[in-house]
Amino acid sequence: MRALVLSDIHANLEALEAVLAAAPPHDVVWNLGDVVGYGANPNEVIDRVRPLGKFVVRGNHDRACSGLEVFDFSQNAKVAILWTESILEDDHREWLRSLAMGPVTPEESAVSCVHGSPRDEDEYLFTLDDAAPSLQAACCPITFFGHTHRQVGFATGEYTETRFGPEYNLSSEPEQFPLQLRSGYRYLLNPGSVGQPRDSDWRAAFAVYDDEQSIFTWHRVPYDVAEAQRRIRDAGLPNALAYRLERGF
Ligand code: ZN
Repeated sequence: MRALVLSDIHANLEALEAVLAAAPPHDVVWNLGDVVGYGANPNEVIDRVRPLGKFVVRGNHDRACSGLEVFDFSQNAKVAILWTESILEDDHREWLRSLAMGPVTPEESAVSCVHGSPRDEDEYLFTLDDAAPSLQAACCPITFFGHTHRQVGFATGEYTETRFGPEYNLSSEPEQFPLQLRSGYRYLLNPGSVGQPRDSDWRAAFAVYDDEQSIFTWHRVPYDVAEAQRRIRDAGLPNALAYRLERGF
C-alpha cells in the first residue's frame, strides 16, 4: 500500500495542483491538516481535497478559520484567517469543523497521523529536544506530523536519537529523496508543506509512504508560484504572504 502524505496546503491551489500532478501512483491520501489559511483559494482547495479521501487531521488554521477556536496568531496570519472566514462557503466551514483531532490511525495501516505532535496537536517539533518526548509517547512506531512546514525526520533506535532530512541538489526541478525505514526504530516524519514551505526551498513539498517496502520518500515539485502570489495580492491579503512563497520561509 502506498500513501500520499500531504500537509499544510494553506489554500494554495497552484501548489496543490502541482503536487497532485506529480505524485506517483498511490492507494490512499493522508492529510495532516492546515488545509486553509494564508493562501487565496480556500474554497477551491477544499473542493479539490475532499474527494481525495476522508483521512484529514485538523490543523490550527482549520480550527481558527472555521471559528472553532481563537488563537494568538501573528498579524498577517490573523488578517488571512479573518479573510478566509469571510469567504468560506457554509458547507466547507462545516467540513473544517468536522475534522478529527490527531493522533489518528488510518484504517489501512499501523501508523499514526497528527498535525503538531503526538502529545499536543499544536506543538511544534523543530529540534531533537522537542521531538524526544514525542518519540516515546507516540502510539505507533511511525508517526507523520506537519505544522512546522519543514521536511524533517526524527528517529530513535536502541540507544540513539537522530534528526535528519532530505538532501537535494536542485532548486527549480522536481526532486525526491527516499528513506529506508528500519525495523525496531521509532520515527516522526514530516512531509513538509504543500502550500507554504518554510525550509528555504520554495518548491511544494509532499511525501509518499510505501508500507510494504518500508520506504518513506520526500518529494519537491516546482509550481506556478507567481500565480499563487498574484491571487494573494488580488485578494487584498498582506504582500508578505505572497513574498514569502518565492523564498520558502
Ligand atoms: Zn500550517
